[in-house]
Amino acid sequence: MTRVAVVGGGLAGLAAAYRLHRLGLEPVVLEAGSTFGGKVQTEIADGLILEQGPDSFLVRKPEAVELVRELGMADDLVPLGRGGSGSAIYAHGRLHPIPPGLMLGLPTEVWPILRSQLLSPWGKLRAAADFVLPRDRGEGDQPLGQLVARRLGREVLDRLVAPLLTGIYAGDPWSMSTEATFPQLLELERDARSLVLGAREIRRKAPRPAGPPGPMFMTMRSGLGQIIAGLEAALPAASLRPGSPVTDLQPDGSGYRLTIAGGEELMAEGVILAVPAPAAGQLLRDIAPQAAAQLFAVPYASLAVAQLAYRPGDVPQLKGSGFLVDRAAGLSITACTYVVNKWPHESPGSVLLRCYLGRAGEDPLRDDDESLLNAVRRDIGTVLGVRVEPWLQRLYRWPAGMPQYTVGHVGRMAAVADSLSRVPALAVAGAAYRGVGMPDVVRQANQAAAAIAGVLAGEASEEESPRTN
Ligand SMILES: Cc1cc2nc3c(=O)[nH]c(=O)nc-3n(C[C@H](O)[C@H](O)[C@H](O)COP(=O)(O)OP(=O)(O)OC[C@H]3O[C@@H](n4cnc5c(N)ncnc54)[C@H](O)[C@@H]3O)c2cc1C
Repeated sequence: MTRVAVVGGGLAGLAAAYRLHRLGLEPVVLEAGSTFGGKVQTEIADGLILEQGPDSFLVRKPEAVELVRELGMADDLVPLGRGGSGSAIYAHGRLHPIPPGLMLGLPTEVWPILRSQLLSPWGKLRAAADFVLPRDRGEGDQPLGQLVARRLGREVLDRLVAPLLTGIYAGDPWSMSTEATFPQLLELERDARSLVLGAREIRRKAPRPAGPPGPMFMTMRSGLGQIIAGLEAALPAASLRPGSPVTDLQPDGSGYRLTIAGGEELMAEGVILAVPAPAAGQLLRDIAPQAAAQLFAVPYASLAVAQLAYRPGDVPQLKGSGFLVDRAAGLSITACTYVVNKWPHESPGSVLLRCYLGRAGEDPLRDDDESLLNAVRRDIGTVLGVRVEPWLQRLYRWPAGMPQYTVGHVGRMAAVADSLSRVPALAVAGAAYRGVGMPDVVRQANQAAAAIAGVLAGEASEEESPRTN
C-alpha cells in the first residue's frame, strides 16, 4: 500500500509530497498532465526565459523562499531588478504613475493623491469623505468594491483599487470577498472608521528594517520552473506519476482506493487533494458531499498571458515595472509587465513585455491565439507607441486559471474543513482554498502534509502499542 497519494502535481501537490517525503512517509504524486508544475511553467526559447503562469513570488510571506532554500537553490534566487519599482495605471489615454504611499491599495498620503491626475477634482473630494463618513454597522463579509466605493467613492475604486485587484486576482471587485482578500480593511473600518487614516496608522507603526528594505518579490535564475524541477529531483522517481488523472476516490478498509483513468486502482492510507476546486469536488462527492458542494461553488476566471520580445530601440525607454489598465480605457489587456526592467536576466538583449488578458466575467479564450496576439500588439501600440512587430511572441492560455474568492469564501472554506474533519487522513491544499499566491500554496501544502503525517503517526502508535505490551 502507498502511504500517501497526492492528487495533482502542481506546486501544491509537489510541495506536499516533498514535505511528506521529508517526514519519512512515502508519497506518490498522481498528475493528470504529461508534466508537473500546474500553473508554474517556464519556457526557455531563443535565450529568453518565458514564464507562462506566475513570474515571481512575494518575499514577505516566507514559505516559497524557505522552500527554495531547503531545496539547496538559495543562490539562484533573483531579487526584483532595480529598474522594476514603481508602476503606472493607464487611464484617459495616458499612463499615470501610481501615487506613492499606497497600502492595501489605499492612499495613505494626501499630497501624492492631490498631485496625481489619475483622479478628477471631484474624485479627490469624494475620497476625502472617508475622513468624515460614519462607520458601517454591518457585520461580516462584503464585496470589496462596495466597501471601497462607500468610503472613498467610485473613482478610487475604478481607477486605483480595481486595476490592482485585477492584476492580482483577475477579480471583479463587486463580487470579491473582502474577508478572503483584504480582511484588514474590515478591521480598519471597524477600529479606525476611516480606511485612509487606519492604513496610515498601520504604515506608521510598521517596524522599520534596520538596513535597506529587502526586495518585495523574487524569482529564480532559470525561471520558476526551476522550483518544480528542484522538487521533482528531490522526490524518488517512482513517486512521480504524470499522465495519471484520478477519476474516483472511495474509502476502502482503513484507507482509500483511487481509480486512475484507464481503470488502474491504487490503495493509499492517506490522501492529499491538490487539484482545482471542481476536480476536488468531483472526487469528494461520495466521501464528503458537503465539502464537494462548497467546492463546486468556487468560480474561476480564465486568463491568457502574452509574451512579446522586441529589439532594443524598437521600444521607447520604459520606466518602472509596468502598468495596470483602467477597465474604462477599453483595452483588451488588463496589465503589462516590463520584464526587461523587473527581471532583466530573463531577456538578455531584448525588451520583453508580458501582458495579461482576462478577468472575472470576461473570457478571453473565446478568441483564437492570433486574434488575441493582434489585440495585445494593438494595445502595446496604443499605450507605448510601439509600431514594429516583436521578433518573438507567445500566447499561453489558462482556462479556469484563477479561483475567485467571492463573498462568503472564508465561510465556504470553513465548511469544507468542517466536513473533511470527519474524513480520516484526507486533506486538501492549493490555490482554491486559502490564498492563491505561491507562498500561500506552499504553506497550505506544508500544513496538509503535517496533518496527514500526524494522523498516520497516531494510527501507527495505536497499532503498535498492543504489540509492544
Ligand atoms: C496567469 C497566472 C499568473 C500568476 N501569477 C502569479 C505570480 O506572479 N505570483 C504568484 O505567487 N502566483 C501567481 N499565480 C497563482 C499561482 O501560480 C497559482 O495559484 C499556483 O501555482 C496554483 O498551484 P496549485 O498547485 O494549487 O494548482 P495548479 O497549478 O492548478 O495544479 C493543480 C494540478 O492538478 C492537476 N489535476 C487536476 N485534476 C486532476 C485529477 N483529477 N487527477 C490528477 N491531477 C489533476 C492539474 O493538471 C494541475 O497540474 C498566477 C496564476 C496564473 C494562472
